[in-house]
Amino acid sequence: MNNPWDCIIVGGGAAGLSAALVLGRARRRTLLVDAGEQSNRMAEGIGGLLGHDRRPPEALYRAGRDELAAYPSVEVRGGHVVGVIDGGGTFDLELDDGSREQARRVLLATGMDYRFPEVPGVAQRWGRSVFHCPFCHGWEVRDRPLGVLDRGALAVQRALLLRFWSDDVTLLTNGAADLGSGDLDRLQPAGVVLEERVVGALRGPGSTLEAVAFTDGGERRCEGLLVAVTLHQRSTLATQLGARIAEPGPVAAEAVAIDTMFRTSIPGLFAAGDVGTQSPSVATAVAAGSTAAAAIVHDLLPRPTHSAP
Ligand SMILES: Cc1cc2nc3c(=O)[nH]c(=O)nc-3n(C[C@H](O)[C@H](O)[C@H](O)COP(=O)(O)OP(=O)(O)OC[C@H]3O[C@@H](n4cnc5c(N)ncnc54)[C@H](O)[C@@H]3O)c2cc1C
Repeated sequence: MNNPWDCIIVGGGAAGLSAALVLGRARRRTLLVDAGEQSNRMAEGIGGLLGHDRRPPEALYRAGRDELAAYPSVEVRGGHVVGVIDGGGTFDLELDDGSREQARRVLLATGMDYRFPEVPGVAQRWGRSVFHCPFCHGWEVRDRPLGVLDRGALAVQRALLLRFWSDDVTLLTNGAADLGSGDLDRLQPAGVVLEERVVGALRGPGSTLEAVAFTDGGERRCEGLLVAVTLHQRSTLATQLGARIAEPGPVAAEAVAIDTMFRTSIPGLFAAGDVGTQSPSVATAVAAGSTAAAAIVHDLLPRPTHSAP
């Protein structure tokens, strides 16, 4: 541990790989440790990423890792970072194989745990016919009967939004809806059907969705289901270091608080991608990783010395 890395990046999804590319091109000694569980890995394609629209996620991550091979100062390692200690000027990291590494800067690009409603049948269709983001998946289910499973504050907004992709949209509140007359006034003219029956299961083979089944025995045709998610920290590293967590937002319940240069509240610790945003997407993760890496390179410059007067 005598020769610390300039930066250790924890996580090799869109944010981490993008950061590693910028750090490698800046000739900074960089170790990227990745457990290989990118949040969108079960999706058929990445929707809405310029130059890579509908490309399978794994193909993008493979291409990112291949590009890094051109930069000798970057090492990519599989595994989990399980522990981190702030040594004051450097960080000591412990990997799950028992090895230890030291770094002058750490970039958390660990992604988030997307928690979806615990309705039977959602998990097996997650990222396919059940999705959280119409911008990512709406095109693939356009013009089909669609549903929104939500009764939170944004349920009406989500149902109206989904109308851009289909004329046949049902808002499934999974129990009595708590909507005001203003909400109903917005749904009815848009042709959104309000369905308050309790959802018992999703029907359809494999990851395909054909219908929503209610506990009263009825069914409604539905081939794509938008669900509300909340994003939670998937790694404890930020809290191990005592980094400030932002107030809960509409999407991320516990994003790491960052400034515009992706600095956390802990000097030398940066965070990029889903881990610190309310706007998760592959494009924003790529941009965040790139900007964070440039900020880290600047942060590695020697500090001005002040001689005593
Ligand atoms: C099902 C689904 C489908 C989606 N579809 C789209 C889409 O079509 N278009 C779009 O723009 N966005 C989509 N998104 C959102 C998008 O996938 C994310 O915003 C983006 O992947 C975030 O990138 P990231 O690098 O921050 O995190 P991730 O891609 O999640 O990568 C984080 C990486 O860090 C690793 N990691 C975590 N903890 C550790 C640790 N302690 N040690 C080592 N490694 C660790 C993980 O294993 C993972 O490989 C989708 C999300 C989901 C859940």
